[in-house]
Amino acid sequence: MYTVAQLIGGVWGAGGDDGEFVVCDPADGSRVSTAPIATADEVGKAVAAAREVTAQWAATAPAERAAALHRAADAVAEAADELARATTAEMGKPLADARGGVEAGIGTLRQYAELAAARGGRTLHGDPAALDFMAPEPRGVVAVITPWNDPVAVACGLLGAALVTGNVVLHKPSERTPATGWLLARAFDTALPAGVLSLLTGGPQTGAALAAAEVDVVAHVGSTATGRAIAAAAAAGGAKVLLENGGSDPLIVDADVDPVWAAGQAAQGAFANAGQICVAVERIYVHRDVAEDFVDALVERAAALRVGPGRDPDTELGPLVDRRHRDQVHGQVTAAAADGARIRVGGTLPEGPGAFYPATVVDNCRHDLTLVREETFGPVAPVVVVDSFSEALRCAADSPYGLAATVLTGSMSHAQRAWRELPVGTVKVNAVFGGAPAGAAHPRRGSGQGFGYGPELLDEFTAMKAVHIEAPGGGHW
Ligand code: NAD
Repeated sequence: MYTVAQLIGGVWGAGGDDGEFVVCDPADGSRVSTAPIATADEVGKAVAAAREVTAQWAATAPAERAAALHRAADAVAEAADELARATTAEMGKPLADARGGVEAGIGTLRQYAELAAARGGRTLHGDPAALDFMAPEPRGVVAVITPWNDPVAVACGLLGAALVTGNVVLHKPSERTPATGWLLARAFDTALPAGVLSLLTGGPQTGAALAAAEVDVVAHVGSTATGRAIAAAAAAGGAKVLLENGGSDPLIVDADVDPVWAAGQAAQGAFANAGQICVAVERIYVHRDVAEDFVDALVERAAALRVGPGRDPDTELGPLVDRRHRDQVHGQVTAAAADGARIRVGGTLPEGPGAFYPATVVDNCRHDLTLVREETFGPVAPVVVVDSFSEALRCAADSPYGLAATVLTGSMSHAQRAWRELPVGTVKVNAVFGGAPAGAAHPRRGSGQGFGYGPELLDEFTAMKAVHIEAPGGGHW
């Protein structure tokens, strides 16, 4: 059982006047953590305390900040097992996945420590008697508001980039993973000067207070509806907003691919982390020529997944994050079935404790079903049969989201059409996951307005200053 404490202005255990909340293990309902709920007043005090150390951290040599981030990465590595166990206990994912998320986070911290020290501004060529240059500066106080589905990797990306560029950060982890956020803050705190990172815990109200506070940047990773509420709140105070939000990623299966191999790709994309990945496969457009074999193979894959608690090393499919979310997932599936779709496997609420939901394949879907168009965020693969690659591209592009898309095809010209025509941040051909390190994209439409977790994120947390210096009286120095 974790007892989470807040870190405000360098003081552990501060605040929590709004009481506390409890997080239960989605595998069995047992209590995992308690955490304080920060009041709006505490949020205000934390922002004021953060503001007080901005000048000192901004004036710290970039190489020294980079060294601190390397030390933070070391501390996260030391706490890696504990962080992975806390993630699994709080949100349910298999332990190996949770450990993978921690490793990814450590990698991102080291990436930013290396890149930031090597950054600079630009010299300009104006009047030879004058000095003209552009200098990057930190933006000031950054609020980082994160989700539960990959809590360490996502937080490390935003915290690392914001801190190493000289910003002071207030982190509010998800109310479903407060202990994971607390363990992470404890690791960072060993490496940073007091007050440079604060930890606030609580739910949407605490997040809303932070988004409306006098901060310079609000960085949010989470659902599209929340991102829009945050953008509206931040607009009132003039803070810059970075949003990485929801998606409904399509998978296109072309007529010329092996349907059994394609089903393996689809299963990986739709069922990993029980479908609770921003870039999970959320809807499948399969060519009629291979549809029957593809769906049969996908059903077989879904039925074969080993279901269990995330802490069990054999588990391939853990529970969903909680029952409230499970009800939403199941609601979309049953509404689709009532509207003519056919549940081929799964689609029923299991007996017993926890928030388990079976891997579910639904075929005979129409493109306009909510299950197809909206983000489901569960282990559900809805299948729409199409008659041509052009029809598949048209459907895939017709979405309120624009995060990523995958195309399985043997045709180079189809691959070329796909990356040019799809209005999404990331296009993958013949692999649902993967991509080179440091790859970053702008999400499109409702998926947000950030720049991923690559080198460009450092620019997002930086403000450029243009400087022009002349000798007095038009003379020379
Ligand atoms: P969420 O938006 O509900 O919560 C995320 C954070 O926002 C939490 O800390 C929460 O307390 C806070 N929050 C909620 N309401 C708020 C408000 N009104 N004002 C300020 N803060 C508020 O999202 P979630 O359910 O935790 O995460 C799942 C979502 O995150 C999915 O939509 C998924 O696609 C998305 N996601 C996107 C990416 C990406 O990189 N694009 C990565 C991971 C998750």
